[in-house]
Amino acid sequence: MPGQMMQPSFLHCSFSAILILQLIMLPFGADASEKLLEDLFLYIDAHQDDFVQSLKDWVAVPSDSSDPQLREELNRMVQITAERIRTLGATVQQVDMGMETLHGGQTIPFPPAILAQLGNDTDKATVCFYGHVDVQPAKKEDGWKTDPYTITEINGNLYGRGATDNKGPILAWIHAIDTYQALKKDIPVNLKFIIEGVEETGSPGLEELLKGHEDFFSDVDYIVISDNVWLSRKPALTYGTRGNAYFFVEVESGKKDLHSGTFGGIIHESMRDLVNLLASLVDTSGHILIPGIYDDVVPLTKEENELYENIDFDMEELKNNTEVNTFLYNTKEKILQHMWRYPSLSIHGIEGGFAGVGTKTVIPSKVIGKFSIRQVPNMQIPVVEKLVKKHLEDVFAKLNSPNKLTVSLEIGAMPWMANVNDPQYEAAKIAIRKVFGVTPDMIRDGSTIPLARTFQDLTKKKIMMLPIGGADDGEHSQNEKISRSNYIQGTKLFASFFLELSKVHEDLLTKSNPKNVKITQLIGS
Ligand code: MN
Ligand code: MN
Repeated sequence: MPGQMMQPSFLHCSFSAILILQLIMLPFGADASEKLLEDLFLYIDAHQDDFVQSLKDWVAVPSDSSDPQLREELNRMVQITAERIRTLGATVQQVDMGMETLHGGQTIPFPPAILAQLGNDTDKATVCFYGHVDVQPAKKEDGWKTDPYTITEINGNLYGRGATDNKGPILAWIHAIDTYQALKKDIPVNLKFIIEGVEETGSPGLEELLKGHEDFFSDVDYIVISDNVWLSRKPALTYGTRGNAYFFVEVESGKKDLHSGTFGGIIHESMRDLVNLLASLVDTSGHILIPGIYDDVVPLTKEENELYENIDFDMEELKNNTEVNTFLYNTKEKILQHMWRYPSLSIHGIEGGFAGVGTKTVIPSKVIGKFSIRQVPNMQIPVVEKLVKKHLEDVFAKLNSPNKLTVSLEIGAMPWMANVNDPQYEAAKIAIRKVFGVTPDMIRDGSTIPLARTFQDLTKKKIMMLPIGGADDGEHSQNEKISRSNYIQGTKLFASFFLELSKVHEDLLTKSNPKNVKITQLIGS
C-alpha cells in the first residue's frame, strides 16, 4: 500500500528504487484493497444468519431504561455488550454512572457505561463508535403485531424493539470487526467504543463521563454516531441537527380564577394578554416576527441551494406520512431548507387555561404559553433569549396591561453542524458507493439530537452521523424494525468505512507531515 513508502526503512533505498517500488505498489495496493473488500463482503453475506441471530439475542433483553423494574435487564444488557466487545480482544472498562433518584425518592444505580479500546497503533487513525443498548418501552398491547422482544422477520424486515435504535447498528459495527478478524486481516484503524445504557432517558451523566475521561479521547481522531436513519430509501450521511430554545411566557392577573359572568368586562384578563403575545411571534406564512431573530442565520449560498435539488425526498410520501395536504412551501428544496437550515417557531400549548371538553365560563388568573424556536447555525441561545424577551416585553407594554409578565427560557439546546469535508465524510461517501453503488444524500435532521453537539463541544473531535437504518424503521414507535438488507449492508458499510478511512487519513497525514513532503520532493527530483 502507498503508505508503506512513508516508513523510514525506505529512506535507505536509492531514489530510483523508491520510484520503481511506488510504480509497482500503487496499483497492487488498489487491487489488494478491492480484493480485501470482496472477501469481507463475501464473508458478511455468508454469515448473515449468524448476525441476525445475534440481533435476536440482544433484542430479547428488555433493556428499557425508563422502567426501574427492568433495571436488572438493562444491567444484564450492558454486561452482555461489554463481554461481546471483550471477545474482540478489546480492553473494556465499565464506568460507574452514579445513582438515579426515582419519583418516590428511592435511589437505584444507573447502568455503567462502557469505554473500550481495540488497537493502539500510532500509525493508524483512531475512530470511536458511540451507541446505546437501552431501548424505548414496548408492550405487545401497545399495538405491536409481533412480540417486541422477539425478533420476527416478515418480508425482509426484522421487527423488534431496539432493532434499529440502537442495537442493530452497534452489532453491525461489531460484526464488521469480527469479519476482519475471522479473515485474519489487519484492521486498518484503531477502534474505541463508548456505549451507554440511558440514552433514551436523556443520557444523564454522559457529559460528566466525557469530561472525566479526557485521556480516553486524547488519541481519538474521529467519532461516529450511528443512531439515526436515512431520509428515504437512499443511503445518507447526516451532517447537521437543529437545536431548540423552549420558552415559557407567563401572564398573571391575580391569585384566583374568576367567573366570567360576574367579572367579565371589568378585568384585564391574563388569557387575552397571552393570546396577543403568542400571536405576535409568528405570522401565517411561518415567518418569525421577533426582530433580529434571522440576523445570525447563515445566508443560503448558490452552492448550498443546489444541494437540495439532488436529495431523494418524496413530497407525496411526506403528505402520506403526515396526513397533511398543504404545506407552507410547495417545492422539495424549500421544504428541506425550512426543516433543516432555517429556524422555526412552534406554539405548543397553554397551561392554566381551560382545556377540558365542554364549556366552562372561567377567567383564568395565571396562564403560561409554551413555544419553542428550533435553532440553526449560527444562532446563539443567549442572543435568542434576549431578543425573545425584548420582543415580548415591547408587545406587552403596548397592551397597557397591569398584569405580571414573566418570560423564561426552559431548554437551550445548540444546533450541530459538521464539516462535510472532514476525512471521515469523504471515507464514508466512498464506502457507501462501494457497498450501495450510489452517492449518499447529504442530509440534516430538523429535530434536536443533543449527542453530536455534546460530543463536539466536550471532546473537540470530528463527529459524523452515519446512519444505516431506513426512513421507515419506526424508532420509538410500535413495530420498530431494521431491514435485513440494511443490517447486513450496514455491516459491509462499516467494514468498508474502516478501510476507506485509513486511506483518507493516511493521505491527510502525507499532506500535513513535512517529513513525508520531503520524501516526495526527493523522489520527484
Ligand atoms: Mn437512539
Ligand atoms: Mn431512541
